[in-house]
Amino acid sequence: MFKQARLKLTGWYLLIIMVVSFSFSALIYQISSMEIIHFAESQRSRIERKFNSSCPDSPPPPILVDSDLIVESQHRLLANLGIINGFILLISGSLSYFLAGRTLRPIQKMTEEQKQFISDASHELRTPITALKAMLEVSLRDPKLDLIESKKVLTNAIYSTNQLKNLSDSLLELNHFNNKSALNLSPVSIKNLMSESIKKIKPKADKKQITIKVNPIKGQINVDVQKIEELFLILLDNAIKYSPKSSQIKFIALKTRKNIIFKIIDQGIGISQKDLPHIFDRFYRADNARTKNGTSGYGLGLSIAKKIIESHGGKLEVDSKLNNGTTFFIYLSNFS
Ligand code: ADP
Repeated sequence: MFKQARLKLTGWYLLIIMVVSFSFSALIYQISSMEIIHFAESQRSRIERKFNSSCPDSPPPPILVDSDLIVESQHRLLANLGIINGFILLISGSLSYFLAGRTLRPIQKMTEEQKQFISDASHELRTPITALKAMLEVSLRDPKLDLIESKKVLTNAIYSTNQLKNLSDSLLELNHFNNKSALNLSPVSIKNLMSESIKKIKPKADKKQITIKVNPIKGQINVDVQKIEELFLILLDNAIKYSPKSSQIKFIALKTRKNIIFKIIDQGIGISQKDLPHIFDRFYRADNARTKNGTSGYGLGLSIAKKIIESHGGKLEVDSKLNNGTTFFIYLSNFS
């Protein structure tokens, strides 16, 4: 498909260049032909004038303009212009092909990413849907299914559909960032921003008796409040998910000359060196996260977090050692 598009685009580029080139050639031919005739005419009158001044009494000899010479010059001019246009066609043809490739490359990359995204998403959706379907079908066929059992099945079905809803919400969120929609920036107090996120995540932390120690700073920051809160919630949620019971999480803000840095430090299972380069990839889950009981997830949180921070012109970094806790660093530069 892209080969065809590239050839088509090359054709269009070439057409534009050649139309311009031919128009200029026609103009050059016209002007040069006129100049040749004008030159022959003026040479003839000059010879006449010279002759008249040297022999004023005798009539001037008939001096004819050599029309064959003019036609020959015009032919030579035409041939030269043809050769030049041939060269232009050759050079601009290969240049157009190269440029068409470069023009189409970002579109090709985007299409491939979209394809990959759709295939990843449908793969991730198919597994829980198939499991849910199988569970409902088996229960439906079971003649001994009583009311208590049915309620259990329905509770499981609701749990699975909730998981599916979370997955589709995350997919929509990711796609929303791919479409680069505008941010709703407004100045907000750093302290409020941090405490609002803590308020929302606290019930989850309480369930595991995890304490979150917050260390905010004074001042304001110019961000999309909803998005940055979402980013904090993703990272805090992970910190809780991958931390043992009764551990501690630190949520710290610092100010440097250029940036405001937020740190989320946990004492959890950590991330191995092998997994670290991949954790921001879509659908990536480290082995220890998959096998760890009760850590549900689809490996989309960190890719959303990364998109949020990048859309703010900041960056997200991680420092972690297996079994030794994890620290996420959020750098934001546009503070007011
Ligand atoms: P998930 O839904 O699996 O948590 P994320 O995109 O949020 O997806 O995270 C991707 C992977 O990064 C996780 O599966 C886990 O392996 C690892 N990870 C993220 N945060 C932490 C953390 N605080 N501690 C240990 N591992 C983490």
